[in-house]
This record gives sequence, structure tokens and C-alpha cells, in this order.
Amino acid sequence: MRRNPKNPDLRTDRRRSRITTPKMKYDTKPYVIGVDMGGTNTAFGTVNRYGEILFRDYINTGDYHSGGDYITALSLAINRLLSENDLQDSILGIGMGTPSGNMNDGSISGAANIEWAKSDEKIFLARMLTEKTGLPCRLANDANAAALGEMIYGVARGLKDFIMITLGTGLGGGIVVNGQLVAGHNGLAGELGHVRVVGHNGRRCGCGRTGCLEAYCSATGVSRTAREFLEANPAKNHSLLCDITDREITSKDVFDAAKAGDSLAVDIFRFTGRILGEALSDFVTFSNPEAIILFGGLTLAGDFLLDPLKESFEENVLGMYRGKTSILVSELNNTEAAILGASALAWGCGSPSGGHVENSDGAIFHVACDFLDFVEQVAVK
Ligand SMILES: [Zn+2]
Repeated sequence: MRRNPKNPDLRTDRRRSRITTPKMKYDTKPYVIGVDMGGTNTAFGTVNRYGEILFRDYINTGDYHSGGDYITALSLAINRLLSENDLQDSILGIGMGTPSGNMNDGSISGAANIEWAKSDEKIFLARMLTEKTGLPCRLANDANAAALGEMIYGVARGLKDFIMITLGTGLGGGIVVNGQLVAGHNGLAGELGHVRVVGHNGRRCGCGRTGCLEAYCSATGVSRTAREFLEANPAKNHSLLCDITDREITSKDVFDAAKAGDSLAVDIFRFTGRILGEALSDFVTFSNPEAIILFGGLTLAGDFLLDPLKESFEENVLGMYRGKTSILVSELNNTEAAILGASALAWGCGSPSGGHVENSDGAIFHVACDFLDFVEQVAVK
């Protein structure tokens, strides 16, 4: 037996690899559900206490025209998954990561990439999902959920100050200061995709303003850059991307072309990486993070994106911060990490004092019921 230095009440028995203090007894319900709501798909899965996704499914976010229709479809799909696998009585709660999610009241509003959630009117998704499923539900902005996932399962293990950037259909941000997510006065802190980076003639953003970071540095931003570059550089019309005429060019198309040596595709990532690097250099001044963690489909572009990003970051960062912030890429499986991050929110549904979850290293984390004392490593097996 040994004592945990941070919490002397906790004792672990190494021989049996089991927590022995009654306070740390795991809650009776062994699973949670993680819901990753994206602009295109909503993926969800049942997750056990060791961060393993057991069963999963998805619905198409874009198929629905109101929050009510969407939640009805999502709850049907969740209930079906639970009954098929006989898990109806084994779920502690649901954690949901959404674009523009408000962790204080479980609502979303002003979600630039979801037609029915674009307005400033709040849609209380967490409460609606609870009404349909009978399960407690906690909701946070998707980048905050991803930050929580990285703290427990990913590259942010052991970090107390970092900024999470998610690069998907849009660009999300989550800010962790002293081990706690910054929620803000209205629960809306960290919408870094809507920091304006182009002041004059900037691109129109889904939020209705112009020049936002997300309009440049996201999957849709890369797609727009590709079209603009093709139109502005007729001399480069031998690019592989010219062959794509019947649909939008995707960031994957640009990546495939870059790998094949297409110079226009390489330029598109360079343009994207330089804008993002400069923006990140400014974000550093806000909270002096130890690391900035990048997550999402766009990071698959690897060095095509990261080299210009790091170069631009180092060029632009204020001198006092130079060399003090690492740019890291999530090592979690892209399709699993978002579900895991969202699911981590739900462990706090365990009791009024929160609940516990363990990662593959045997480190045990306490997830608090409220977001002020959010997640803390409390023991190691
Ligand atoms: Zn915007």
C-alpha cells in the first residue's frame, strides 16, 4: 500500500492493482456515452472506464432541420444501440461535444456550420437529450471536450496550461489554465476560430462576420483557398486540382495532390499554415501555455501544414515567449478521440462529488460534477 501525495486519503494496493479506499469505489454503472457532434456527422459510442469504445454508431447531422428533429433521431439511435447490446441499465450519463456548445447551461447557439443552430437563440440540447433518453447529459464545446480527452488519454497528460485547437469543418479552441478549462462568464470561452485574422476584404465566415481564422484554417478554409488559388493562378493550371471540376475540392484532395508533388497544393498548405502559425503566436500572449495541441482531420496534412505553421509561429511570437511553447499534434486516433473526449464529460455525472476514470497508464482521474474543478489526476495504480 502507498499513499497518494496529493490526496493522503487515497491508498492503492499495487499487488491487487485495485483502489481500496471506499471513497474511490467506482460508481455502479460501468459505461458512459460519448457524442461527437460535427457539422457533417454525429458519431457516438459507449465507453468503459478504461477509455475503450465498445459499440458505436453515427447519424448525419446535416439531415435534420431543427434541434428537435436532430435530438429525436440521436436519441432513437442511442436507445437502439443500448437495447441491441443490453446496456440500458449500465449507462452513467452522456457527454456531448458540440460546435459552439455552452458548458454552463448545455445549450448551443451561433454554430456557424449547422444550419438549424446558426442563430443566437439557444437550443438546450443537453436537456432535450435527457428528456428523450432518461440519462443525465453534459455538454461542452467540442474543443473543450477534446482538451479533456487529451488531458486524460492523450498528449496533454501531465500538462496544466495548454490550448487545444481542433481543425475540422470549422476551427475550435479550448483553453486550459492551471489544469482547469476556462469556461468564461457565459460558458462560451475559447471560440478561437472566430478571432479575426484578416482585417481588410477578409473572407465571409459562417458566423456572419469577415476575416475569421476559421474561414482560412479549417477543412472548409483549405477548400476555399484551393478554389481561389486556381482562379488566381491560371499559369498553374496544370495542377492536379484542376481535374476536380464537378464538386468542391476537399482538404484531402489537396493533401493527395501535395503528396504527389503538386506545387499549387503545397502552396495551399503553406498559406494555411502561415496564417494559423501567426494566429497561434498571438494566442500565446493570452495564457502563456506550455503547449498548443492540434487535433482534427487537417493535421493529417503533416509537415505540409506544420512546417510553415511552426516557421510562422516562431517568426511572429513575442520575444519573451520564444522557445517556451511546444506545438504538438494529438496522437489519439482521430475517429476515437472526439468520442473519448466527449465521454469524459459524463464521468462527472457519477455523484454530487463527480466520478472517476482511468487511462491505459493506470492513472486515475477525478472528473468533477461542475466545471470549475474539472479534472484532476488523483492516483496511479
Ligand atoms: Zn467567424
